[in-house]
Amino acid sequence: MSREKQTRLERNQQVDRFQLYKPYAFYTAALSLMHAAVVRGGGFSRYAAAALVCAGLLTWGLYEYAVHRWVLHREPKAEGFNLPGNLTHLRHHADPNSLQRLNVQLSESVPVCVAYYLLAWAATGSWQAAVYLYTGLIAGYFFYEYLDFQAHHGTSRGRLTRYFRKYHLQHHHHDATVRFGVTSPLFDYLFGTFHIEKRRGGAHAGGAAQAAGAGRNVS
Ligand SMILES: [Zn+2]
Ligand SMILES: [Zn+2]
Repeated sequence: MSREKQTRLERNQQVDRFQLYKPYAFYTAALSLMHAAVVRGGGFSRYAAAALVCAGLLTWGLYEYAVHRWVLHREPKAEGFNLPGNLTHLRHHADPNSLQRLNVQLSESVPVCVAYYLLAWAATGSWQAAVYLYTGLIAGYFFYEYLDFQAHHGTSRGRLTRYFRKYHLQHHHHDATVRFGVTSPLFDYLFGTFHIEKRRGGAHAGGAAQAAGAGRNVS
């Protein structure tokens, strides 16, 4: 077994499973309660529900891309206010193998979820429709947590996982100015950040060096 694989396996065995599974348990419980309320209120047509879940999934992809590209990768200010997640993400780039903060903290995700749900309710005029949109968003979020974990600490060898692991590690180790999507390359295609320049030499060219430099400034 190669050293890289041993290291990944050893890291995987040290993972705090309670922290890892906490958001899945919390949001599954919340969604179960919300869906029970929708069913009690008379339910929704199957096709309309499926369309809304797909739309919710798309909004996750857009959210993930926009926040990753325009919030998490901002140049941090030495003093004063930095946007939520900015410093945490640059630390993640500086040390992608860290076992600290394996996933987004509930204190960060709950306000976003509440805001999204209220916005979805206002946009559709239906609290039930908002539940289905929100379900799509959470499905995307779960996929994101799973793939980010697999990229850095996971040992899954499924084809899809290997594709997304490579995709995300190219953002980390090749060029941090491209490949912002974690659960889908769709928005990288749409916003022109899919293409990767071939390396000309050095091990850490371009954006990776930039991200590592930014990470060094973060404490
Ligand atoms: Zn990562
Ligand atoms: Zn990043």
